Amino acid sequence: MRATYIYAAGDIRVADAPDPTIVEPTDALVQVTRACVCGSDLHPYHSAPQTPGGTSIGHELIGVITDTGAEVKTLKKGDFVIAPFAISCGVCEFCRAGLQTSCANGGFWNDANLGTAGCQAEAVRVPLADGTLVKVPGVDPTTADESLLASLLTLSDVYGTGWHAAHQAGVTTGDTVAVIGDGAVGLLAVLSAKQLGAERIILMGRHQTRTDLGREYGATDVVAERGQDGINTVLELTKGGAGKVLEAVGHLPAYEQAVGVVRPGGVISRVGVPQYEDGPIGWSFFGKNTTLTGGPAPVRAYIEQLLPGVLDGRVNPGKVFDRTVSIEDTSLGYAAMDAREALKVMIKP
Ligand SMILES: [Zn+2]
Ligand SMILES: [Zn+2]
Repeated sequence: MRATYIYAAGDIRVADAPDPTIVEPTDALVQVTRACVCGSDLHPYHSAPQTPGGTSIGHELIGVITDTGAEVKTLKKGDFVIAPFAISCGVCEFCRAGLQTSCANGGFWNDANLGTAGCQAEAVRVPLADGTLVKVPGVDPTTADESLLASLLTLSDVYGTGWHAAHQAGVTTGDTVAVIGDGAVGLLAVLSAKQLGAERIILMGRHQTRTDLGREYGATDVVAERGQDGINTVLELTKGGAGKVLEAVGHLPAYEQAVGVVRPGGVISRVGVPQYEDGPIGWSFFGKNTTLTGGPAPVRAYIEQLLPGVLDGRVNPGKVFDRTVSIEDTSLGYAAMDAREALKVMIKP
């Protein structure tokens, strides 16, 4: 099969790889219908060290089960499934608490402990299949609309991650929410906040095609300014700050912006993977009695809840995909996202 590897910063190549096989009786093998490039894949794309053999990459996919191990109980060959970006057992303390990204038996894609590879590939081995995979009922991926496939694919990460941001912040009816970042996760955090009843949603971002989609998803205001100017604008619009702030970038200036725009007594919910170790925790944070929450989204916990809205077309999170490449052109997909020519790139094996 063909699979994607990263050899160094900026060096993505597609190469031949051995076909995955069943290793544990709880495994399933999945033929990838669609995969994609994530904003978080751009972090290694910027900073990966030279790796002569390459590192397998990719963590978002939908696909069809081609084989199952002897102990897989709830899934069978031919099932069309969504694979979250974390592998989880579904039965440990953390899985039962809806924190599958902390699963005691699980892990991630391209995880040495689990022996998983990345999933920007034609096929993958999925450990702990019963816990990890979610069957999509009633959809034949060979005949389904491209827009439905795109929306289902967002359930493997970006929609669930945007939802997690809003859920962790406790967004509820009538809230004023500020969303920092106009990437796919930020835009789907807007959609999620809207679904949870937010009344005013201020999207901080400056790429108009993206913020236009944000408005379609429910943003009532767009603030393009950055830094203190952006903070001042939000403070004016809200007369003192937003009660719920969803940070969907992961760089320090975005977190600083969150601290700047949060209302006294408010909540900052972070889902952008932090690219920093230190940030404001002194008076600017403490002085407002701010609550800080968020983390890697346990998207597995949200799929069953979010799937019906996707299946009946009430929501179209798949609109965040604005480019599709063949697997051979995966490196072009990375380059387009890195240059911000594409918001999110789908890979069609
Ligand atoms: Zn992702
Ligand atoms: Zn678990």
